[in-house]
Amino acid sequence: MKNKKYKGKSTEAIHAGESLPILPSDGEEGLSEKTGIPLLTPIYQNSTFQFQTAAECELACIDEESGYIYTRWGNPTQQVLEQKLAVLETGEAALATASGMGAISTALLTALLDGGHVVAMETLYSAAYNLLNEDFPRMGIETTFVDATDPNKIESAIRPDTKVIYLESPTNPLLKLVDIAACAEIAKTHNITSIIDNTFATACGQQPITLGIDVVLHSMTKYLSGNGAVIAGAIIGENEFIMRAKKGALRNFGAVISPFNAWLTLLGIPTLPLRWTKHCENAVSIATFLEQHPAVAWVRYPGLVSHPQYELAKRQMNGFGGMITMELKGGRDAGEALVNRLQICSLAVSLGDVRTLVCHPASTTHSLVSAEVRQQTGITDGMVRFSIGLEDTEDIIADLDQALDVLPS
Ligand SMILES: *Cc1c(COP(=O)(O)O)cnc(C)c1O
Repeated sequence: MKNKKYKGKSTEAIHAGESLPILPSDGEEGLSEKTGIPLLTPIYQNSTFQFQTAAECELACIDEESGYIYTRWGNPTQQVLEQKLAVLETGEAALATASGMGAISTALLTALLDGGHVVAMETLYSAAYNLLNEDFPRMGIETTFVDATDPNKIESAIRPDTKVIYLESPTNPLLKLVDIAACAEIAKTHNITSIIDNTFATACGQQPITLGIDVVLHSMTKYLSGNGAVIAGAIIGENEFIMRAKKGALRNFGAVISPFNAWLTLLGIPTLPLRWTKHCENAVSIATFLEQHPAVAWVRYPGLVSHPQYELAKRQMNGFGGMITMELKGGRDAGEALVNRLQICSLAVSLGDVRTLVCHPASTTHSLVSAEVRQQTGITDGMVRFSIGLEDTEDIIADLDQALDVLPS
C-alpha cells in the first residue's frame, strides 16, 4: 500500500488510506492493475471470506492482519476507512465502529478491562454521561466528574486507581473548552490513558493526538460523514491500544460497523475540510448576527470575543466549528415559537449535517426532565442550540430574522 504523506487536510481527506487492501492475486477473473481497479473503494458487503485450502485458512487465522476471515474481525471497506481516519487524526491506527457510543464504550472497556477509576469532564454527551454515571458503577467502575475547564480539578480528582481521563471539547450544549495539551500533560505525568471525544471539532478543527492525547473518539454520524445518512463511530490511537480494542472489546461486545455504513462514511470524508471551512464561516456570521439581536439574551460560540475561553479557542482550534447555543429573553415560549417559525432550519437532534439543525431542549429532548434538573445541568428554558449547515449565509440569517422578529425583546 502506498503510504504517502500529504501537506494538507483536503488532500489527506481525499487520498489517504485509499488503497484497496485486497485484490484477488491469482485466477483469470480476478481484478488486476492491468484490467483497472475501482477508483472509488467498493463495498465489500459480505460477512465471511472464502479460502482455497485449509493451510491458507489456518495461516489467516494465525496472522489475522494478513487477510480477512469474517467481517466482525475486519473487512476491506472498513479497513480503508480506518486507514484514512488514522492519517486524519495523526494516529498510528484506527477502528471504525457501529456508532459514536460504540466507539466510546469500546474504548472505555479496553482501557478499563481490569477495572479502575475515571476522571471525566462534568458536561458530557448525555449517553456517555449515563454510561459512566449509571452503567459502569454497577460493574465496579467509578467516575469522578469535574469541571475540566480548570485542569487543576482533574489533577485533584486523580486516585491511585485512576486509569482514564475522559474529555470533550467543545462540550454540549454550552460549548465549553478544555485545554487539551494541559490535560494530556497531567495524564502523562500520572501514567493515565487520556481519551477525548473530538466529534464537535473534527480532525479539521483540532488534532488532539498532536497535543498529547492518547485516544481520540468520534461520532462519525455527525461531521465526518456529514450526510445525515449513517450512525457510525471511530477510535484513533496507538497501534497497541487499537489492536487490543479490535481483538477484545470490539470483537466481543460487537459494535462493528457495517461495510455499507463504512462506505457511506468514506463518501463523506473527502469533503470534510471544505465543509468544515464553510460551517465555521457561516457560524461566525450567524453567531455575530444573533448576539446583536434584541430578542437574544446571550450567545455562546467559541469564535466570539464574549466566549470566556476565546483566547484558548484561538490557540487550540483551527476554526471555531458550526455549533452555536443561545438563550432567548422570552424563555420557553419563545424557544417553542422560534422552532415553529423557522423554515430553512430544521427542528432535529444531531449535528454536523449539511442542513442547519435547531434544537430547543426545554420543549423537546428535555421536556420530560424536571425544571429543577434542567436548571442544574444548565439547560435553561430559553436555550436554543444550532448546528449551522452549509446553506447560504444570507438565507440562514433571513430565516432566523423572520422567526426572531415576533419574539419579546
Ligand atoms: C452524537 C454524539 C455521540 C454519540 O454518537 P452516536 O453516533 O449517536 O452513537 C457521542 N459524542 C458526541 C459529542 C456526540 O455528539
